Amino acid sequence: MPEVVRGLGVSTGRAAGRAHRMARPPVLPPPAPVTDAAHEISVATGALAAVAEHLERYAAKASNRDARAILEAQSLMAADPALLESVEEGVGSGLGAAHAVDAACAHHREALLAAGGYFADRAGDLDDIRNRAVAAVLGLPMPGVPDPGHPYVLIADDLAPADTANLDTGTVLALVTEKGGPTSHTAILARTLGLPAVVACRGAAGIGDGTWVSVDGGSGEVEVGVAEDVAAGIQREAAALRDRRDIGQGPGRTADGHRVPLLLNIGSALDVGPGAAEGVGLFRTEFLFLDRRDAPSFEEQVAAYAAVLQALPGRRVVIRTLDAGSDKPLPFLRLPGEDNPALGVRGLRTSRTRPEILDTQIDAIAEAARSSDAETWVMAPMVSTVGEAAGFARRARARGLSHVGVMVEVPAAALHARRLLEEVDFLSVGTNDLGQYAFAADRQQGELADLLDPWQPGLLQLIAMCAQAGREASKPVGVCGEAAADPLLATVLVGLGIGSLSMAAPSVPGVREALGRYSMAQCEEHARLALAAGDPDEARAAITGA
Ligand code: PEP
Ligand code: MG
Repeated sequence: MPEVVRGLGVSTGRAAGRAHRMARPPVLPPPAPVTDAAHEISVATGALAAVAEHLERYAAKASNRDARAILEAQSLMAADPALLESVEEGVGSGLGAAHAVDAACAHHREALLAAGGYFADRAGDLDDIRNRAVAAVLGLPMPGVPDPGHPYVLIADDLAPADTANLDTGTVLALVTEKGGPTSHTAILARTLGLPAVVACRGAAGIGDGTWVSVDGGSGEVEVGVAEDVAAGIQREAAALRDRRDIGQGPGRTADGHRVPLLLNIGSALDVGPGAAEGVGLFRTEFLFLDRRDAPSFEEQVAAYAAVLQALPGRRVVIRTLDAGSDKPLPFLRLPGEDNPALGVRGLRTSRTRPEILDTQIDAIAEAARSSDAETWVMAPMVSTVGEAAGFARRARARGLSHVGVMVEVPAAALHARRLLEEVDFLSVGTNDLGQYAFAADRQQGELADLLDPWQPGLLQLIAMCAQAGREASKPVGVCGEAAADPLLATVLVGLGIGSLSMAAPSVPGVREALGRYSMAQCEEHARLALAAGDPDEARAAITGA
């Protein structure tokens, strides 16, 4: 009988396959005297050669062009003669193979950082090479995303944005992490890629490499030790379901024809995809600039925004200005360290100390808007006061942008939704952060995931206030947090009066299908039941029994 371990299902769908773990970075052994320098050099350079070869093989198999280019460049770095020379020097000065690799990589890392710009951005790649080569010297499994040579379920402690650049949906079937919450990077990434995912799964720690597992990204159940033929059956069903879902097309609407635009959450033009998107409800511009040491130039930004706007002529594209800080560190802002970064200088607040960054960004958005036929909307993240909304609106309108809005991510903003709409043209409710701040629960914390459940009636009440303010002002109010991607909850949001829903592309068919099953009056009944419930489970049960 398979053993069942449970976590939080954050990206629906089922998948099954062999589990493979993302190995942790190796720890250096205590230094030991070198007795055979030639041997140490040959072990260290052999490890680097193995890493270069591994990365080259991985690059050849990557289905994504950008991932392939990154891996090819990284492979060349691992084989760089200057790096090998530093390793020899390290051994010459008395270091063993692992320590010599570590020291050589640290030395070259410093040089890259000092060179700045593009070179500094590659410093992280060298860390990865260091981890892989030290692991090879010590005979440990390669850290980073594994490459077992067949499709597999990825098990990890947690996934950072940098870990995911190489994630190939051709081989990764599902994600299971020990940490993370419903709005953590892993969850957002999984929904973007359309991969079933379970986070906050403590039992994942005990899943051995190569074990057959099945993952249910809806219920959060992971069965460990399933039979191989059962796993194959689950994979066949998943493929059949994907085919059926791809058939549904067209704009979002309720069963009685009430239009609800279903927009996309994207991080770059690549996420727009070839499908007929109704528009973009959240363009997370900071995703273009993660891990950068220098601010992106005006020209670079114009090109990045224009690439998205030009892909969607005549459609709405809501561009969010940089949301830096807390879970999205942007080193080029050089923000001081903070004890509570989620409560610190993040989102729009960064413009208090670095106003020129926001000004350049708005200039670049306005310039890109002039070169396209898309309907360009712009909004600021982490707005807490009416004064902040007014200041942002002034700045954006002065540059000719005519659809200016703010995100509602802080309870104070929801409580003042009506006043905010006197200053701006639209609101977009970011339920990920609104849940975090309303419930005082870190969105990255698995232990507090129940408080971050978007069905929490307290969160729904805040969303209802925003929707009501929009109705009174006759101005659009949408939801772009992960709550919008839950098909049943989408009917509740529409019933509350939310006018558009924005989500990762793979979630659109499920939400479209759910909305199409209910009339507006039924959605309103769902909203009433969910608001009246005492907790998320009661809210869900009230509706599924309705
Ligand atoms: C949110 O907070 O709901 C949101 C959409 O923004 P992000 O997830 O990028 O913080
Ligand atoms: Mg947010």
